[in-house]
Amino acid sequence: MVHFTSSRHDERDSPILDPSASSVTGVSDIDDSVNGSEKHVRDESRADSRSSRKKKRRRAKDGGISEINGHSSSSKRRHSISKAARDPRDEPSKRKRKREAKVSGVDTRSPSPVIDFDGLSRPSRGTRERLEESTEQAAERLEKMRGAVRTILECVGEDPDREGILDTPTRYAKAMLYFTKGYQQNVRDIVNNAIFHENHNEMVIVKDIEIFSLCEHHLVPFTGKMHIGYIPNNNVIGISKLPRIAELFARRLQVQERLTREVSNAIMEVLKPQGVAVVMESSHLCMVMRGVQKTTATTITSCVLGCFERKEKTRNEFFSLIGLNGSAR
Ligand SMILES: [Zn+2]
Repeated sequence: MVHFTSSRHDERDSPILDPSASSVTGVSDIDDSVNGSEKHVRDESRADSRSSRKKKRRRAKDGGISEINGHSSSSKRRHSISKAARDPRDEPSKRKRKREAKVSGVDTRSPSPVIDFDGLSRPSRGTRERLEESTEQAAERLEKMRGAVRTILECVGEDPDREGILDTPTRYAKAMLYFTKGYQQNVRDIVNNAIFHENHNEMVIVKDIEIFSLCEHHLVPFTGKMHIGYIPNNNVIGISKLPRIAELFARRLQVQERLTREVSNAIMEVLKPQGVAVVMESSHLCMVMRGVQKTTATTITSCVLGCFERKEKTRNEFFSLIGLNGSAR
């Protein structure tokens, strides 16, 4: 679920794009050129469907070869933008798969789309590479980044050899590696046996976890607060681990929707509670400093799993405890 209190973030691939939401905020009309070009593409495809008669004739001639590059695959596309474009890996895991995991008890491929079999989190092709690199490889990585930053400095019209910014490439490269240190972290190392048997089956909430993340579309920060709640299933997790799990996923290139979902799924997977609810409110600098320049806009995303998803009462209790009106879901 995504809620926009006054404006929406301009992620063009936002999987939860709801036409009613954009018409309410009206942001789509004043969005940046990225969305404009997308609109153009959509218009083109409409024009194509108009010439479908021509296409049919062509198909008859070439035995359907044009279907591959043509638009006949549109029948497989979702018919409405009100339906979320879902990655199949994001679908909630089936009961059957849960039972399988319980039986095996060994390291198998994780049932969630978030944590891989080795405890590293997807998607991050370079994760293992970065985690296991030698000192020389690390130096090489830093040098490559320094070069890239130097190029940026030149491109913005600076003199990269000016005294004040002489060390900026090195500083920025190091800062960037810090901002993305989540790529080197393993969920299992973080949890590190801090799961305790406890017959406490009431809601546990950690509120106002500060989040600093980078928007993957602009490499610009988005910052805010995350609230995590769960209902134990005879096991509780060390309370400090929840912010650390949030930090792991925040210190990667993100979109807020995915960050919320990944934290939720990861807790569900490592703890197997009755349910997890994660809400995040944040401000995106890519929206504040550029684009629509809505300085007071807050983007709220939530992901509820298990009993929070099934029971409205539980969900509302969580929303009211973190200070969000339950009806504003
Ligand atoms: Zn952005």
